[in-house]
Amino acid sequence: SELVVSFGEMLIDFVPTVAGVSLAEAPAFVKAPGGAPANVAIAVARLGGGAAFVGKLGDDEFGRMLAAILRDNGVDDGGVVFDAGARTALAFVTLRADGEREFMFYRNPSADMLLTHAELNVELIKRAAVFHYGSISLIAEPCRSAHLRAMEIAKEAGALLSYDPNLREALWPSREEARTKILSIWDQADIVKVSEVELEFLTGIDSVEDDVVMKLWRPTMKLLLVTLGDQGCKYYARDFRGAVPSYKVQQVDTTGAGDAFVGALLRRIVQDPSSLQDQKKLEEAIKFANACGAITATKKGAIPSLPTEVELRYEIHWYRISDISEILVHGLYWMAV
Ligand code: ATP
Repeated sequence: SELVVSFGEMLIDFVPTVAGVSLAEAPAFVKAPGGAPANVAIAVARLGGGAAFVGKLGDDEFGRMLAAILRDNGVDDGGVVFDAGARTALAFVTLRADGEREFMFYRNPSADMLLTHAELNVELIKRAAVFHYGSISLIAEPCRSAHLRAMEIAKEAGALLSYDPNLREALWPSREEARTKILSIWDQADIVKVSEVELEFLTGIDSVEDDVVMKLWRPTMKLLLVTLGDQGCKYYARDFRGAVPSYKVQQVDTTGAGDAFVGALLRRIVQDPSSLQDQKKLEEAIKFANACGAITATKKGAIPSLPTEVELRYEIHWYRISDISEILVHGLYWMAV
């Protein structure tokens, strides 16, 4: 199977209609569907891969809207359940003029936190070639137990486990609790991806030197990745390590770039699992993931920016034949399709 099953939260971000304001100053907000695990599933499906999402939504207009977005993007929503009593999670998010991201979450509790292990679509999870998850679903019961059970089911059925902690400090009772719980499932993952911020949060050291990254390495891992924004990423496998630069693009909004990166990488790994043992193949896969992250950073929002196969093939082709270290993506998509 080449199925990627993604587990966790799907929610609606409300983002200001104008840039660079605080939440209090924002004159109005627009809906931006998201939730990292859902973004990853959609990223895989946009690239032509099999993808499913497992999680809980409110049995309300927003929950049904989000399930429709999964289906419209070709994601199997057979693992989605609806809670009659709780609302779909909302988050108000802004990037202030000072560069700080400001979040305000409405989860008291929201439907995603109420998924129980009895509600898991076990047959779907067993079909996964890769089972992907974050850490937000670890914060509160009953979802935490459902998350741990789903990991077990996937692992027993032979799936690779993929973990992107996707730290949201504001959702945890304390920094210490966040660190402990995020690391409590560290040893089970085959593939782990962290950002620079998460690397510092988890190690306590503000550096991306190999000896710092290696503090997060476990002998049970197959691949550890540190994403570095426009600098691309560093990778660590059992027998080799290295860095792959990204493409040069006009950055507009990096929301979803990390999820595009993960989705693209997982797509390549399920297509050819030997990429995890072959440095050349792995670097090719990472280049592809960097390109998907780069393209996502050129457009506003997360889900609408995730590249399709057609878009990506066109842009990478254009990049290669023009032989310059730039891809200029604006508008070219429509010429390609
Ligand atoms: P997120 O911000 O989504 O939580 P993240 O911090 O991992 O996750 P980034 O490091 O911003 O995300 O981006 C992920 C990948 O996307 C990078 O490793 C890189 O390959 C690509 N990317 C992101 N921004 C840019 C950019 N401005 N130019 C080129 N590539 C980029």
